[in-house]
Amino acid sequence: MSTAALKLPTAKDLIRAITFDTDNGKIWLNEQRMLLVDASEMAQLKADLIATLGTDRAKLFLMRFGYQAGMKDAEVSRQLRPHMSPQKAFLAGPQMHNIRGMVKVEPVELSFNINNGDYYGVFNWYDSYEAGVYPKDAQGRSLDDGACWTLLGYASGYTSYFMGRKIIYQEVACTAKGDPCCRIVGKPAEEWGGLTDIERAMMPDSVQDELAALRNELVRLRSNQPLRADPEFKIFNAIGESKAFRQAYSLLASAAASKVTVLLQGETGAGKEAFARSLHAGSERADGPFVAINCACIPPELIEAELFGVEKGAYTGAHQSRQGKFERAHGGTIFLDEVVELSPRAQAALLRVLQENEYERVGDHKTRRIDVRVVTATNEDLQQAVEAGKFRADLYYRLNVFPIRIPPLRERKEDIPLLVSHFLEKFCGVYKKHIPGISDRGMEMLQQYDWPGNIRELENVIERGVILTDQNRHIASSSLFPDREETPFLAEGFDAAGKIQIQRNHNAQWQSWLSQLLQTDFALETFEQDLIRHALHASQGNVSEAARKLGLTRPALAYRMKKMEEEN
Ligand SMILES: [Zn+2]
Repeated sequence: MSTAALKLPTAKDLIRAITFDTDNGKIWLNEQRMLLVDASEMAQLKADLIATLGTDRAKLFLMRFGYQAGMKDAEVSRQLRPHMSPQKAFLAGPQMHNIRGMVKVEPVELSFNINNGDYYGVFNWYDSYEAGVYPKDAQGRSLDDGACWTLLGYASGYTSYFMGRKIIYQEVACTAKGDPCCRIVGKPAEEWGGLTDIERAMMPDSVQDELAALRNELVRLRSNQPLRADPEFKIFNAIGESKAFRQAYSLLASAAASKVTVLLQGETGAGKEAFARSLHAGSERADGPFVAINCACIPPELIEAELFGVEKGAYTGAHQSRQGKFERAHGGTIFLDEVVELSPRAQAALLRVLQENEYERVGDHKTRRIDVRVVTATNEDLQQAVEAGKFRADLYYRLNVFPIRIPPLRERKEDIPLLVSHFLEKFCGVYKKHIPGISDRGMEMLQQYDWPGNIRELENVIERGVILTDQNRHIASSSLFPDREETPFLAEGFDAAGKIQIQRNHNAQWQSWLSQLLQTDFALETFEQDLIRHALHASQGNVSEAARKLGLTRPALAYRMKKMEEEN
């Protein structure tokens, strides 16, 4: 890329990506949630950080803060300028600094090549919001390097993401120490010779990472502690820290130690099998087999043979004797999902196992002894099945000794972020991708959704998101819910042709704007004329462009303009 033509392209595309969702108290840059923050508050924060942490730590803290913001903006600019030249796409970064009101950026020199990783950039900064607060040493003398730490972090984070390698900037001049403007120079980290402050700020042993590690440890302890330590525990997806989850989980933990028969009640996809596996893993039988079977998936006439085995010649087609699931679960745990689907004969045989610890294979008279723990699950009310005569009452009482209700996902939405990061990790491994997370907007939609299919549905949604998302990008809401149209706020905005696209009926902001309009001294005809004049003015008199803005053809606008002239 040459250094010629360093004029910034129009920033309209970036500004259009900002939407104000005042009804819900949110500002969006594409899918990233933004804040309008008072510049003087930020200055105060910086001064307070210096006072409490000391200059050096405050500097690293703010650089890291800026670095993260820069990385996020780089991701957004990639989305907004996918077809532009690399240089124009890159300049979205400096432009975002302008738009964010942090500093006026003037590119001085820029040359880079994404393919071979070469990078050299020089930028002037005017009116940096950060240059006002400048730390002095104990004697009140100014320090040697610049004061614009957040901005420097931002530039480095942005460029590093953009280039796919570590690019570091240094501030070689700063108004805070009397220079006429701030100036930054950026090049690959290793060309600086020695560790820069920004690299120190991004070191993995930072406080932030320590805190995150501690937090993960705490979550792990909370979920696992009652049960036997099991490093593979997470694979069962019994994950959560919400109150509803922990209540169910602590019941499970207290049942694990004994051989008590457990009945798991919960909706489809709520994680019944995960709970059953956790129960097994936490019990003394953990080294024995765990056998799961969904009774609804086996034809009623075959279920008894499936569960208890068959003796050769028991019925046509039984050419060989074979074991049933119970026999295979000997010494361990058997999990019977949708137990309500058992045939009457299978119900009787199950009751006998529970009462006498014995059974017979189908077509056999030999009684076999068995040691197995029975865990059953149902998403229906078993008691109703008893009342309807579908399920044996005596078996119901045997199974219902220790019922545990597993809450549906909509009752434990606090667990969504935890589950999301678990599934994200899982599917990034499966699809060999690096995906840093979900966009703010995407996470909000995950929280708002009601999850009729529970955790299984969430798992599917994250898997699809991972498949649809490019490397190193956050998963956007459209990749999570591709079929959903009702994203009222995000639909508001402008398409490439500049036409207003507003879901008029759904948008509360639009409605309130309309009613405000009608409260004024309103007249439709005057309104139309004003709007046309405004469009013409905004297009510097270019009729075609004004027509496009108004969603009209050029002749249709020309006709209206002629009418206006005649009337006035
Ligand atoms: Zn500066």
